[in-house]
Parts: sequence; structure tokens; C-alpha cells
Amino acid sequence: AAAAKGDPAKLGASAPKDSKILYSEMCNVFNEIEGTSSRLQIVKLCGDFLYSVLLKARKDIVPITYLLINKLGPDYQPGLELGLGEGLLMKTISESCGKSLQQIKARYRELGDLGRIAQEARAVQPTMFKPKPLTTGEVFSNLQAIARSQGKDSQLRKVQLIKRMLTACQGLEAKFLIRSLESKLRIGLAEKSVLVALSKALLTYEYNGKEPSSELVDVAEQKIRDAFCQVPNYQIVIETALEHGIMELDKHCVLTPGIPLKPMLAKPSKSISEVLDRFQGQRFTCEYKYDGERAQVHLLPDGSMRIYSRNGENMTERYPEIRISDFIADPTRTHTLILDCEAVAWDKEKNTILPFQVLSTRKRKGVAIEDVKVRVCLFAFDILCYNDEPLITRPLAERRAYLERALVPVPGELQLASEVTTMSLDELQQYLDQAVRDCCEGLMVKILEGEESHYEPSKRSRNWLKLKKDYLQGVGDSLDLCVLGAYYGRGKRTGTYGGFLLGCYNQDSGEYETCCKIGTGFSEEMLQTLFDRLSPTAIPAPKAFYVHSESAPPDVWFEPTLLFEVLTADLSLSPVYKAGASSYGKGISLRFPRFIRLRDDKTPEEATSSEQVVEFYESQSHVG
Ligand code: ATP
Repeated sequence: AAAAKGDPAKLGASAPKDSKILYSEMCNVFNEIEGTSSRLQIVKLCGDFLYSVLLKARKDIVPITYLLINKLGPDYQPGLELGLGEGLLMKTISESCGKSLQQIKARYRELGDLGRIAQEARAVQPTMFKPKPLTTGEVFSNLQAIARSQGKDSQLRKVQLIKRMLTACQGLEAKFLIRSLESKLRIGLAEKSVLVALSKALLTYEYNGKEPSSELVDVAEQKIRDAFCQVPNYQIVIETALEHGIMELDKHCVLTPGIPLKPMLAKPSKSISEVLDRFQGQRFTCEYKYDGERAQVHLLPDGSMRIYSRNGENMTERYPEIRISDFIADPTRTHTLILDCEAVAWDKEKNTILPFQVLSTRKRKGVAIEDVKVRVCLFAFDILCYNDEPLITRPLAERRAYLERALVPVPGELQLASEVTTMSLDELQQYLDQAVRDCCEGLMVKILEGEESHYEPSKRSRNWLKLKKDYLQGVGDSLDLCVLGAYYGRGKRTGTYGGFLLGCYNQDSGEYETCCKIGTGFSEEMLQTLFDRLSPTAIPAPKAFYVHSESAPPDVWFEPTLLFEVLTADLSLSPVYKAGASSYGKGISLRFPRFIRLRDDKTPEEATSSEQVVEFYESQSHVG
């Protein structure tokens, strides 16, 4: 269905011109949600609101859903990020609300929330006449225009648009508008909850307001979730549900070449025997775990190709030397494909894999083919769609056979992932050693047959286990943590930062929870790079969505922009750090953390989640 509507990748979201839902109605809901801590209650508030929108103004449902999750379109569409800097927002608030910049800054140090400051400033501002109320449609379109505004005078255009909206803001509106512009609503409304609320609203609407049974609600929720995993685009999913009914979603919302799906992820494991215990009696395969960047390769019906990163970013321009059509076994009969691959730097002279660090020296955008010094080899390990037929609910063994039939590998350009199928501990150990000698990180062990071997988009699944040689001791994996603050360096490190405060991401509350201070593993060069990249993101006070303790505060706080991959000896309960505190009572922290590398391929919200930190902690042998 999606494919029939032209290039599906371009299908974003737009607001109707005659939007009927006032922004104030939405802000009242935000406010109620902010005052609630029960997730059930939050989902109910959100679901009731969405249902009322469906009844009053169906055309508004898509932009409103995006406003609720604080996004402006599908994740894979470029140019829709907000996250405006605090400097710009403070200046705009000061200019449009008649307060000096000094006053705003001083208040910000007290409150740490520009939204509340804007609301306060608007509340005491005398207005000559009552402005026309803002509609959700206007806000959505303006936010899109702000995000898309680029180039000369873009700053000015952004400021003008924000000022125009701020002048029309009443009551609570300024608070939520400013927070949306910062890309953080911070009301504890996670995208997961919006999806649940949306399915309930759509179902009730389909049943003409009759309360559906809880079994039906569960099925609807699963249908919407599955559809969204395959087609992560609210417009397509919502419109299809309205047109065909929720229960029919799985027939109409399926993998579509041109729309990146969220990749399946693996769980860590600490030893070969743990793997054997988990997969007891089942056939499994061990693949090399290549150390590069994930590349989801799409062949489109018009013969063009797109390569998407782990988080759905279009990276085609980064790899100009790759042409998937060169490797198709039967070009006349192969119209579309979706492959899951790892892109790895390749040494053409020695015919070997190069370490990840070499790949990371390549520019991310606009690479000209003549400038390619480090060539990339694709290692394909899965096929998700062939000639428009989704394969994700086929067993892995079958998908592998498809992969072998569909492609003609060329050494150093596109190869199939090396793999062995074995049940023997010795063979597994030898294969792991060989993978490491061949410049891989370790192995990916995957179930081959039955339902457990299906491809589960966006899920971190127990059916894929990663076995990373370096991390077999410790907690079994590295963590990717967000830099929240830094401490000034002393001695040799004077002039740069000497240590950093890191946090994991709580996916339920949308908050970053501190989990360690790190000062080990950095070269002098890296410290300089970090100083150059982080200092422009410094903010005068911690964000209101940082969960931290008052002791040992960093010298500088930052916007959440950068992730460090770190290793730790183990995890322990801590009075100072806050990771997992909401689910575990006390916070969990990393002991002896060590910096490995920057993770530029992940967004801050893709940091290791608090839930994962809790899992790591609980899987330690001495816990529980
Ligand atoms: P995670 O994706 O688990 O958050 P991460 O991005 O740090 O963590 P890893 O823990 O290193 O990644 O493991 C998963 C990644 O390994 C995949 O996203 C993929 O890019 C890479 N990879 C390399 N070889 C394979 C393979 N054979 N099968 C699946 N993934 C592979």
C-alpha cells in the first residue's frame, strides 16, 4: 500500500491548513501528563486526547501524534531535527517577552528549564489585545519550517517564527513550545506509551466509541507495534489503520524498499558456555562479528540504491564506491531487495579487513569517489525482503539460502558474512579466536530454525547473542553512554577537560541518569578533540531531565550530544550515581570505566538504556 504512493521515503507528515485542534488543548494534556507518574494514567490521558482528535478532526491526528512524541516526521527523514541551542532560545525569549538577557540567564541558573522561564515571562507581560489562539497545525508547520530553515539568514528566520508563536502563546503554551523547540518535552511521555495510546484510540474509533475488550486492545497494540517496526512512519501506519482497520494492518503495512526498518539487535553474553546453555538443543550459527558500521542496503524498483545507517539515516553518499547492482546474481529478475550488512574498511593491497578506527576517518557525507582512500567492503549477513516479499518471518536458515542465491560476492567489495554451524564448545572457541585474528570483534551467535530465528525489527533479542572477545570478562559488553558534563583537567591535561560525567538513557521517562565519572583511556589528541567538540555545547545549568546527585558536580554541563563507548570491570550500587534508580531503588554505577571510542553512529537517545544497565548489574554472578 505504501509503495503505491510514490517514493515512500519522501512521505512525511504535514498539518492541515484548517487545523481544528487548538494548541492550548494539547498543552493542557501535556500539563496533566507532567503531573502524573503512573504510566497507565499517562497512557489513558494520551489515548483519550487522541480519540477526541479522531472524533473532531481526523486530519489532525498525524501531526498531533508527532507533536506528542516531539518529532516532526519519520526518523529516517533528514532535516527534521529541532534541538535549538539555548543561546538562541534565551535571546528570542528575552526579545519577545521584554526581559533582559541577564535576567533570563540568572533565572535559568535557578530553574534549569527554559520552558518555565518563557511561561513566567509571558505571564507578566502586558498585552494590548488578545492574540488569535494557536492551532496545533500552525505549531507543527512552524516547527517544520524552523527545522528545515538552512543557510543564509536561517537564524533570523527561525527567531522570527519563534517570536511570532511566542507572542500568541497564552497560559501554559510558551512552556511546552520552548521545550519542543529544545527537542525535550520532559513530561515523562515516552514514544512507547504514545504508541499504546494511539492503538487504543484508533480501536475505540473503529468501534464507534464502544469500549473494546482488553484482549482486543492487546492484539491491536501488537498489530500497530509490528506495523511500525516494519514501516516506521506514523502517517502510513495511521492512515492504513483508518482505511483498512487495525486488524488488517499486517496485510498492508509491510517492509517497503525505500523505508528503513529498525534493525534487530543482539544481547550480550559473557562466555561460550552461557551461549551453549541458552541455545541448548537448538541449531545455531556463529557468524563473524565485523567491526564496522551497520548498513541496511535497499535496492529500489527504479534500480537505484540507498544505504541506511543503524538509526535510519540515509548514508548512501558516504559510500560512493558501492553499487549493489554489481553483485546481483539475476539482475533481470531482481527488482527490489533489503539487505542487512556491516560496512567495514578494507585494505586492497593486503586483502584484509582494517580496524574500525580506519573507517571512522572517512567523511560521513558528500564523499567524492576520487577521494575514497579507504575502500569499504560490505559483509552481508541477512536478507529481509526480496522482490517486495518480506522475508522476516522466514527462518534464518531459509533467509541465508535466499542471500546466497541473490548475490554474487566479490572479495573486498561485497562478501557474505563468514559463518559456521557447530554445537561443539571447542570448535566455537577456535572460531572465536579465528574471528579475532581476522580483525573481527568476536562472534554473533544466532538461532537458525523455527520461530525464534525470525528477524525481529528493532528488538534486542535473546535469539542473537554477541560474543565479544575483549569483553568476555567484565560484564560481557561495552556500554554507550552520553556525556553530560566535564571536569577541568589538571597538570598535563590543563586547558582541556580531564574527566567526564556520563549517563545512560531512561527510555520510559526520557531522562538521562548519571552512572560514572570517567578519566581513563583518552589520548592527549582525543582530549583535545573532545574539548573542541564539547565546549560549544556547554550550558549554564544541568538540564531538568538530567537525574544526578548534588555531590561532585562537574565543572561544566553539556547538552546531550555525544556518546562514549566505555568498558567497565563491573557494576555496583552507588549513593552518588542514579542509573536505574527508578527501578532499582539505589543507583547503579560503573567501576573503573575506560574510554574505548566515540559513537558517532548513535543518537544520544540510543545510549545504553537504564534497563540494560540494570540487566548488566543483575547478570553479575555475585548479585541476586
Ligand atoms: P547494540 O546494537 O547492541 O546497541 P552496538 O551498536 O554497540 O550495540 P554491537 O554490540 O557491537 O553494536 O553489536 C551489534 C552490531 O554488530 C550490529 O548492529 C552490526 O552493526 C554489527 N555486526 C557485525 N557483524 C554482524 C553479524 N554477523 N550479524 C549481526 N550484526 C553484526
